[in-house]
Amino acid sequence: MKPLIDEYNRQIHYVRISITDRCNFRCRYCMPSSGIEWIPHEHIMRYEEFLRVLRICIARGVDKVRITGGEPLIRKGVVPFIRCIREMQGLRDLSLTTNGVMLDTMAGSLKKAGLNRLNISLDTLDREKFAHITRVDAFERVIAGIRRAFDAGLSPIKINVVAIRGFNDDEIPAFAEMTRRSPVEVRFIELMPMGCATRYGEYELIGAPEIREKIEERFGTLEPVEYNHGPAKVYRIRGAQGTIGLIGALSEHAFCGRCNRIRITANGHLRPCLFSGEEIDLLTPMRQGISDRELEALIEEGVKMKKLNHGLCAGTSSAAGQGCSTLMNTLGG
Ligand code: SAM
Ligand code: SF4
Repeated sequence: MKPLIDEYNRQIHYVRISITDRCNFRCRYCMPSSGIEWIPHEHIMRYEEFLRVLRICIARGVDKVRITGGEPLIRKGVVPFIRCIREMQGLRDLSLTTNGVMLDTMAGSLKKAGLNRLNISLDTLDREKFAHITRVDAFERVIAGIRRAFDAGLSPIKINVVAIRGFNDDEIPAFAEMTRRSPVEVRFIELMPMGCATRYGEYELIGAPEIREKIEERFGTLEPVEYNHGPAKVYRIRGAQGTIGLIGALSEHAFCGRCNRIRITANGHLRPCLFSGEEIDLLTPMRQGISDRELEALIEEGVKMKKLNHGLCAGTSSAAGQGCSTLMNTLGG
């Protein structure tokens, strides 16, 4: 097997696919409330097209796939799609990122289809703040969904919290507290200058070092958990059942050096980096009838386009200016 290796000798193990740009929430930092230009249906990758790309990637050493969106659980047929991915030889880990609102009815079937684990986004533990940030009054449903996911055995469950100054910084200790009683990983994510969050003035980032300080003020020094190749640095409050992940996408310079992923957008473009403006269109040539070998060569080309790092740096005016205007729902986070 010839692995997919970029120009900086990083091997690609992980593919993130955004299966839809549609969503049943309108999180303020992710999407505007209206006036969104949706990808026309005919330009959205069909499931069999995703499967074709994944088959090639897995044959070249990818062993982790994450399904995301938009909200992936609103796309019809997602459960049988998961079953098809699960059947691919060589795949080790199949996960999905969701806003959690459909899990109360879907968690059991996702588990049965072969999904290993879930990341569930939850930015606040307060019902009114939840309705404000997502523009949907669905806090109780998401909490019920998280419980169902636990009961279905979709573990470990990771809770994604985008840390936003003035919105949820006061809740950082409460989120950290969750890990003491329950085997979840709470992951604090720095707000990235994407889509609706390109203006730092309105939605202000809190850096991972400050998040750590806030947690340590309350719970004492965090214990580092094993080194892992993902973007999160993982810690544990002494004696806690769960863990705390800090994702310093902007503040932490080693972040890009560990990057082993590529993304496929809902309209079938290979995006080598979340922040990259460069993409390779796979869908058009696929529909024009290219062979698997030609498709594989395009994927290799996309991997070679990966830059050494994303070129953004937290806290600088250039970070605000350099942000990426693509809406996060088309890329999948
Ligand atoms: N709809 C699903 C969800 O919300 O989990 C999956 C797609 S969403 C784009 C994936 C992740 O990206 C979520 O955890 C979301 O909070 C995060 N996200 C969206 N916009 C972001 C931004 N500007 N900065 C950091 N994270 C962001
Ligand atoms: Fe939808 Fe997820 Fe974006 Fe919120 S963060 S609007 S749930 S895609």
